[in-house]
Amino acid sequence: MSEKPSYHMTPAEFRRLGRQVVDWIADYYERIESFPVLAQVEPGQIRASLPPAPPLQGEPFETFLDDVERLILPGITHWQSPNFFAFFPANASGPAILGELLSAGLGVQGMLWTTSPACTELETHVLDWFADMLGLPARFKSTGTGGGVIQDSASSASLCALLAARERATGYQTNESGVQGRLVAYASNQVHSSVEKAVKIAGLGRQNLRLIEVDEQFAMRPEVLARQIAEDRRAGLIPCFVCATIGTTSSGAVDPVPEIGRICREEGLWLHVDAAMAGTAAICPEFRFIHDGLEQADSYCTNPHKWMFTNFDCDCFFVADRAALIQTLSILPEYLRNRATESGAVIDYRDWQIPLGRRFRALKLWFVIRYYGIEGLRYHIRRHIALAQEFARWVEASDQFELVVRPLLNLVCFRHVGGDEVSRELMERLNRSGKLYLSHTVLDGRFTLRFCVGQTYTEAQHVARAWQQIQETAAAL
Ligand code: PLP
Repeated sequence: MSEKPSYHMTPAEFRRLGRQVVDWIADYYERIESFPVLAQVEPGQIRASLPPAPPLQGEPFETFLDDVERLILPGITHWQSPNFFAFFPANASGPAILGELLSAGLGVQGMLWTTSPACTELETHVLDWFADMLGLPARFKSTGTGGGVIQDSASSASLCALLAARERATGYQTNESGVQGRLVAYASNQVHSSVEKAVKIAGLGRQNLRLIEVDEQFAMRPEVLARQIAEDRRAGLIPCFVCATIGTTSSGAVDPVPEIGRICREEGLWLHVDAAMAGTAAICPEFRFIHDGLEQADSYCTNPHKWMFTNFDCDCFFVADRAALIQTLSILPEYLRNRATESGAVIDYRDWQIPLGRRFRALKLWFVIRYYGIEGLRYHIRRHIALAQEFARWVEASDQFELVVRPLLNLVCFRHVGGDEVSRELMERLNRSGKLYLSHTVLDGRFTLRFCVGQTYTEAQHVARAWQQIQETAAAL
């Protein structure tokens, strides 16, 4: 009788095929500029090319990479292309990708300290490093009253912050205290949509999110915030949470955290600071001023998966008082009980996030910080900012285009003097060309082009070519 096949990939096969995959990725980076940055496919096109049913018998792995090439690559928007200037970047790097591979290889699920102590302790340690790199106040470190945790996204970080704020405001009795419908959250009208989502998920209700007016730089007006809080209190409502943004999505505006923080302290409100992309800049001492006022914040997040060469997903979320977060999110069913947890001597990160399970994300962040070093990271951040500033000067000097706001860091907001329709048509033509990818927003009711420099391999020549392309396409409109 013949032996049954195991169906598994053996370690020897893994070694051989894994090398092919790593080679494929290295080749991909070498030829990435040959692809249109924005995928040029119609809705449903990729799916229509896939087999209608899964295979009954396993297939040889050798065919998989050919299929990725043939079926998948046409539907990829190349976020790692140096000609990617849309949204905010989601940049990656060799050390991060290798860290991610190792994380998959170890296959650790780090919900509890005991389910992989190194997963927890490396995360705590690297986030303390990162707090120092960003110049965060000492209370955000695990050696103080707080600490950091890696979340999947800034959206999850905002939700965790809002939940902790809600619970702190109700003595951790939201469900029993009968305050539903009266808790209020505040953010500027430029806040990222994830905060609106968090307000819905946390049960405050969209009607209890106050979107505070901004000034001409699109930054929150603190006096309007103070007035709104007072008005809400008079109406019998319970203000509990403010989200300030450092580097808004639309225009890169920085809310005045020192003033907002003072109001939050006086009013006893939780202040969360969302620095999803811009926070990375604070690694450079000359840009650290963006963190002014953080000593008054209760929580803070930034995403190395945006601008710090750490492939998605990696959001670093810091709290000043870890007890508030843990009390909000902790439950302990019998099947998770263990001696280490009960000793109180360990961190169980499942109490710091929404899901129970968690990936070993700290490896890739550790690899990035070690590979580049602080100086290497500063070099690239400065380079990106300088390139964006140069682009802004070209815009300013042109009589075809105008700057919408003076860029602080690496995001340039500009428009064609011909008006909204011209700017929109220009963006669509540029993106259809495949030569670069940029995105848009609306500021002061007007269509605005966004050009963000933050892709790992973007060099001066890519920015110069993009500007040339923009001018030539505009001239042909
Ligand atoms: N906050 C800001 C300021 C952002 O710009 C973004 C995304 O661009 C987010 C939050 C959401 O980020 P994530 O995808 O990590 O949830």
